Amino acid sequence: MLAPARFISHLRAMRTIQLKDDVILSGIKPMAAVAIFRAGFVFWRYGFDFVITSGQDRPKGADLNKTLHDDGLAFDLRSKHVPRPNLPGLLSDLRHILGEDYDVVLENKGMENEHIHIEHDPK
Ligand SMILES: [Zn+2]
Repeated sequence: MLAPARFISHLRAMRTIQLKDDVILSGIKPMAAVAIFRAGFVFWRYGFDFVITSGQDRPKGADLNKTLHDDGLAFDLRSKHVPRPNLPGLLSDLRHILGEDYDVVLENKGMENEHIHIEHDPK
């Protein structure tokens, strides 16, 4: 596993993975980092931009309870640019490629802050 700073610079250098400027991924855990690459693969296959909008920083409007974002085990992806007819298939493919230890949730559907939340949360 790359040191966090190197991991982040690799992500930026790849260009295929875009990060919103204020995203914090410095304490991302390996199981979440793996999920970023797997999820990226799904987006690339569809030809959609892959944009991480939140890591350990708190998503806008998030409640004050501790979440797996704080632990480096969750991240959010932009979904507003995904054509609506493609959304169900994209979510299904993400769940399939990540497996049952990950939760994939479309949050705030249709709203300004809509995003796909992914967390590593083995049952
Ligand atoms: Zn989230």
